[in-house]
Amino acid sequence: MRSIRRGDSGPAVAEIRSILVGLELLESAGDVFDDAMDTAVRAFQQDRGLGVDGLVGDETWGALDASRWRLGARTLFHSVPDALVGEDVRTLQERLLEMGFDSGRPDSIYGPRTARAVAQFQREVGLTSDGSCGPQTMKALRQLGRKVVGGRPQWLREAEAFRRAGTNLVGKTIVIDPGHGGGDDQGVLVPDGPLRWSEADLVYDLANRLEGRLAAAGMRVHLTRGPKPAEPIGSAERAGLANSLGADLLISLHLDGHDNEVADGVATYHYGTGSGLSSTVGERLANLVQREIVVRTGMRDCRIHAKTWELLRLTRMPAVRVDLGYLTSPLDRDRLVNPLFREQIVEAILAAVQRMYYPVEADVPTGSIDVRQLRMALSSKS
Ligand SMILES: [Zn+2]
Repeated sequence: MRSIRRGDSGPAVAEIRSILVGLELLESAGDVFDDAMDTAVRAFQQDRGLGVDGLVGDETWGALDASRWRLGARTLFHSVPDALVGEDVRTLQERLLEMGFDSGRPDSIYGPRTARAVAQFQREVGLTSDGSCGPQTMKALRQLGRKVVGGRPQWLREAEAFRRAGTNLVGKTIVIDPGHGGGDDQGVLVPDGPLRWSEADLVYDLANRLEGRLAAAGMRVHLTRGPKPAEPIGSAERAGLANSLGADLLISLHLDGHDNEVADGVATYHYGTGSGLSSTVGERLANLVQREIVVRTGMRDCRIHAKTWELLRLTRMPAVRVDLGYLTSPLDRDRLVNPLFREQIVEAILAAVQRMYYPVEADVPTGSIDVRQLRMALSSKS
């Protein structure tokens, strides 16, 4: 759908306003997208880990729509084939995680894993263990939810699984996700004299280079798309591909853009919520990718951030998205269009992936790995 924005009016605006009023982010209903509504939309986006732009597009609308469900307002169960989706499911999943029940990442979808975690909880509190969340289970959750906090078991399990997979890069599966690229979706597009640079083409070139280097190091590498897919590919589809391959890592490549050409720099995103739940392995990967790129290229450090974006939320392996500079910045663009500079970025990501598999005590200073020696270093370690 077309993004709904400040200045718009009509029934769609009225519906969004009423949701924001329900969330207590806005005081009055109505059908005009005014300044107060713009502030409310931005506050909502900030809270949900979405891009904060004040525009209601597909992703923000999806999150608003799902937010109408408050935990306790309906009975939750594992519905087949169409799973129940909503804010109430996410609240339930976060509460289960806090109590130490493995419901997977809080993805707002009531799937089999959530049902299993609910059944486990029901057994522990002496309720019929049917995996559905009705009034009695809800009551037990309310009574216990705030008292019992067991840390972040999901992330400990993820870290443990990652550790058990061993330190050898050879044979690991990595998915590289060049953003955009299907149909009309070119991502950020910038005319530059007679040339037109697109995010889709540049990140595909980077993914392609990375594929060759990672494969040479002995990893199994998959790209989520070819150079010119016919149709746009959604985040859920990209995440689904990585899940079905049983990938060990996923790295998504994007470029950023801004109305102001002064904005520049690199930022890396991992899965996490404002309430402090985050993927520790994903955060470590984000840190390494960010630091290697900043040290090796000198791009401005726009740091790492926790986000609940679909791609990060739905993937079942440590996953990061890196925004490799602003195509709208003459400074970043000049460098990005240079293949030698792109090679530096590739080497930085390669070094970060390699360091993911070093035991923490054997880790090396950022910028110090000579990735040309990667294979040799690996065979002597394994
Ligand atoms: Zn992008």
